[in-house]
Amino acid sequence: MPDCLFCKIVAGEIPAELVAESGRTIAFRDINPMAPTHVLVIPKEHLSDLAAMAAADGGLLAEVAAQAHQVAEAEGIAPSGYRVVFNTGAEAGQTVFHAHAHVLGGRRMNWPPG
Ligand code: AMP
Ligand code: ZN
Repeated sequence: MPDCLFCKIVAGEIPAELVAESGRTIAFRDINPMAPTHVLVIPKEHLSDLAAMAAADGGLLAEVAAQAHQVAEAEGIAPSGYRVVFNTGAEAGQTVFHAHAHVLGGRRMNWPPG
């Protein structure tokens, strides 16, 4: 998708600190981390949000979820606990309309979220 920031990261046109890759996903560090660990897991194909990912073929959403857990394991935050967030739509704070899971951890998370 032209002019999509995360498509450009997938294509290597914008640098990112990659931490993991699977067949249909990549994971890279958020440029503005909100926790000691803050990694984004995205599908390589352009899908705008969680609903589009859920409707995609072949278990893509399950692959994103599995990748999120693998990142948490690799970052050492799985035993203590971590949060996976899909901001979906403007009011939820979605600013990049290429679907992404935020994987957050390394500190105590508050509830309710802001
Ligand atoms: P959201 O607000 O849920 O759409 O999340 C978008 C996230 O992308 C934010 O947490 C940003 O900090 C992050 N972000 C924006 N540009 C970049 C970039 N070039 N590399 C890594 N993360 C980015
Ligand atoms: Zn995209």
